[in-house]
Amino acid sequence: GMLSLRKEHLYKVLVIGDLGVGKTSIIKRYVHQTFSSNYRATIGVDFALKVLNWDSETVRVQLWDIAGQERFGNMTRVYYREAMGALIVFDVMRPTTFEAVIKWKEDLDSKVMLANGQSIATVLLANKCDQGRELSNNGIKMDQFCRDHGFVGWFETSAKVRPQNT
Ligand code: GDP
Ligand code: MG
Repeated sequence: GMLSLRKEHLYKVLVIGDLGVGKTSIIKRYVHQTFSSNYRATIGVDFALKVLNWDSETVRVQLWDIAGQERFGNMTRVYYREAMGALIVFDVMRPTTFEAVIKWKEDLDSKVMLANGQSIATVLLANKCDQGRELSNNGIKMDQFCRDHGFVGWFETSAKVRPQNT
């Protein structure tokens, strides 16, 4: 057959945010298409790999789950090292987890940056939107929040409920 020259990429993406916001659940949903109501909060770091094939390129997204250490509200420089992107998650039903988003973003930006000195691309996830949309239903406010705090964008998510096909 033809020689195929696939271009390969490996990207480290951090998933951070307060305890219980659904970080592990989002990763399991994205990588394994499953949901469970009780993931044990293990201590340590978990990884999950999502492989995406685009034309002639393969992208391996290595998702880093902080598994139990989020109760301290910050992570070490070593943990953040060489990440090229981050997802910061909050729970739409718990305002304190939204307030903590700013603190997580500051922790991230103070400890990791791209080779050119820019902060890494960070997306905000308003999770558990199957339970309500109290904190995220004002899209204009959310857009402004993202501009003010350096997020590239935001999405409402649910690890529990599959989106309807439209
Ligand atoms: P983590 O501590 O941020 O990793 O949060 P977990 O993934 O362990 O989730 C904490 C709890 O919230 C678990 O009971 C999950 O089943 C539940 N959960 C996570 N995501 C969702 C969601 O999108 N909707 C609902 N209803 N529950 C969720
Ligand atoms: Mg977890």
